[in-house]
Amino acid sequence: LEVTISPFLDEKGHLNGVVAVLHDITQIRKLERMRTEFVDNVSHELKTPVTAIKGFTETLLDGAMDERETCREFIGIIDQETGRLSRLIQDLLDLSRIEHKRVNTRLKIVDLLAIVRSTASKLQGHAENSDIELSLDLQEKTMPVKADSDMLEQVLFNLIENAIKYTPAQGRITIEVDETEKNYTVWVRDTGIGIPPEDRNRVFERFYRVDKARSRDMGGTGLGLSIVKHLIDFHGGTVGVESTLGQGSNFYFTLPKANN
Ligand code: ADP
Repeated sequence: LEVTISPFLDEKGHLNGVVAVLHDITQIRKLERMRTEFVDNVSHELKTPVTAIKGFTETLLDGAMDERETCREFIGIIDQETGRLSRLIQDLLDLSRIEHKRVNTRLKIVDLLAIVRSTASKLQGHAENSDIELSLDLQEKTMPVKADSDMLEQVLFNLIENAIKYTPAQGRITIEVDETEKNYTVWVRDTGIGIPPEDRNRVFERFYRVDKARSRDMGGTGLGLSIVKHLIDFHGGTVGVESTLGQGSNFYFTLPKANN
């Protein structure tokens, strides 16, 4: 709490009283702290691959280049780290685009099920390549929501892509949509590795990963779910996950029904 006190004088300049103004600055402080944390996080995430790229390049230039096998291995790592860097930059650009859009977008009435179908079909090939069955269990009707269709597509894309990433071959992914009086709930269920109970609330935080090494190998940046949460918050919905370790995860998000 910040207090500003100003004297209240009469025409002759005599003190007549004081005016005290109380400002609640906790919100401002909180935002400032979030920004600083974000910049720290991003810098750290960018530095890791750059350090690796620089390290391996220097070792190559110092002579390791003469050995063909070492050369191949190091360039492989450099290629991987460059890919990671570029995905990270892409995710950051997405985040900034979303921020920009959030201010400038007018939400429209769109059909949730149509967006679910079209996004799932875009990832069908990817699922097949990983030997995973991706199926939809949807009703034949329209489900109107007030939304930005690109943003919803991004939400579904991130959830389905994760389900594919964290599900071993021969697994299954099912997408369902439930409804209550006021909301629709979209479920993306997988038969993958699952999430330990202590991590379930944290996976929606920026850069949070249950298993850093695994996420790295899968090309993860730790930003996907934070983008999902951000977008769903913006639409007035909620996100969550239920999971059994070793058996699978059920990610869900809700959206308010559009009142036509
Ligand atoms: P990443 O780029 O690492 O996948 P996300 O923000 O998309 O980042 O997800 C954060 C973490 O949540 C992941 O690193 C992973 O540990 C966990 N996770 C996300 N989706 C799933 C899933 N379907 N099954 C198991 N773990 C998951």
